[in-house]
Amino acid sequence: MSFQVYNSFSKKKEPFEPLSEGVVRMYNCGPTVYSRVHIGNWRAFLFADLLRRWLEHEGYEVRQVMNITDVGHLTDEMADEGEDKIEAQARREGVDPWKISETYAGQFLADAVTLGCKEAMVYPRASDHVPQMVEMIEALEKSGHAYRTGENVYFDVTSFENYGALSGNKIDELDAGARIEVNEEKRHPADFALWKSDEHHLQKWDTVFGPHGFPGWHIECSAMARAHLGDQIDIHTGGEDNVFPHHECEIAQSEAFTGEQFARYWMHTKFLQVDGGKMSKSLGNVWNVDDVLERGYEARALRFALLRGHYRQPLNFTWDILAESARALEGLDDLAQRLLRKVDGEDAGEEEVAAAATEFRDSMNDDLNVPKAVAALFTLRGEVLEGAVEGAGAQAALDLLAEADAVLGVLELEPAGGGAEEDAEIDALVAARNAARDAKDWAEADRVRDELNARGIVVEDTADGGSSWFRK
Ligand code: AMP
Ligand code: ZN
Repeated sequence: MSFQVYNSFSKKKEPFEPLSEGVVRMYNCGPTVYSRVHIGNWRAFLFADLLRRWLEHEGYEVRQVMNITDVGHLTDEMADEGEDKIEAQARREGVDPWKISETYAGQFLADAVTLGCKEAMVYPRASDHVPQMVEMIEALEKSGHAYRTGENVYFDVTSFENYGALSGNKIDELDAGARIEVNEEKRHPADFALWKSDEHHLQKWDTVFGPHGFPGWHIECSAMARAHLGDQIDIHTGGEDNVFPHHECEIAQSEAFTGEQFARYWMHTKFLQVDGGKMSKSLGNVWNVDDVLERGYEARALRFALLRGHYRQPLNFTWDILAESARALEGLDDLAQRLLRKVDGEDAGEEEVAAAATEFRDSMNDDLNVPKAVAALFTLRGEVLEGAVEGAGAQAALDLLAEADAVLGVLELEPAGGGAEEDAEIDALVAARNAARDAKDWAEADRVRDELNARGIVVEDTADGGSSWFRK
């Protein structure tokens, strides 16, 4: 089975084929760095990491670009109005806007490492790409897709026939439904700013459009994608709220500029909800990575909790779900430790492991169906617990776990504990305990068992009268 992806542009699953053989050009809408990135954002970014890892698993070289929006993202995205989010935060904190974006961008990159994300090829900042934006805007103006009013430049949505193809929004309906007090400068209420002028804006550039300008949020992504990946890209991702207006506008600008299709596949992550509702500052449930670590969870438990659900299904975050994910990981850690001790046994269970591997790969190839892929690992765990997997089967199962971990990035596969010497000591204690048990010296058997317990070792008696052990 080849990789199938649900393309939110065509609204169906399609076989994935990149423009150039063996190479994938992927652009992920990244964070607007006006505050600490929250776990909802991480659902979108971890999905991008998962997608990249799966593409690499399938043998592609992935050129991954995840931008950092450090200017131009307005508080009222829909109306294309409001205050710049970075500047609003700068005013609240009473510091320079550049300080705001530097601080939160730094935290975002640190969190990415904590959460086990592979480093993107580049994390471009919007403010470093103003010349590339100006180049596109000037060209759009020349070709009649954009117009100036004073020092502002707008994109003329009626000039782009396919406007609305991604989101399903029709220009006429946008007109009728416009809830904004009409910006008199715009020819059509749905026209959006490519460049804005405001002498009070703190981050501003002196360009051909005037001395006090700053870019619109949408043109930033079009320009950064083009600067780092070229005129056409394979995959563009973002959260579901990016579909409109952000991605609809990106398509219009980029395609009006190049005359070519911009992105071949659009993939959107459904929103993460918290306690069944929206995350919001007023409810005090806008959690970030530190909040999770402070409650004693490992970062990988969060990573697993956010990746375990299918990305096109809504996901509801609760602390119980995080605890459940941590327990599920313990189960998989335990599976690995058991397998490590079974590789020297008599060969058994190779067929079951091969079936689990096929199920895992087929599920991932089916539009990254992680829940199904993970279920295959738990089915395998059941078979291992029943003693059906030994020797070559155990080795194959370990290989499958390593393959799964390269994609999921959450497993611990190293032998636990202090290595061969400590293992030998524990083997000796387990043997002593078994000897005591066989001699019906229950007090001694219990004493040794307690000692093992204190060292974090759990002994399990097996059906054949022997016993096995693992570290808690
Ligand atoms: P922003 O920082 O607002 O530009 O958002 C960065 C990315 O996170 C975008 O792709 C958003 O669509 C995504 N995002 C924001 N909130 C959530 C959420 N609750 N669940 C999933 N993705 C989100
Ligand atoms: Zn974007």
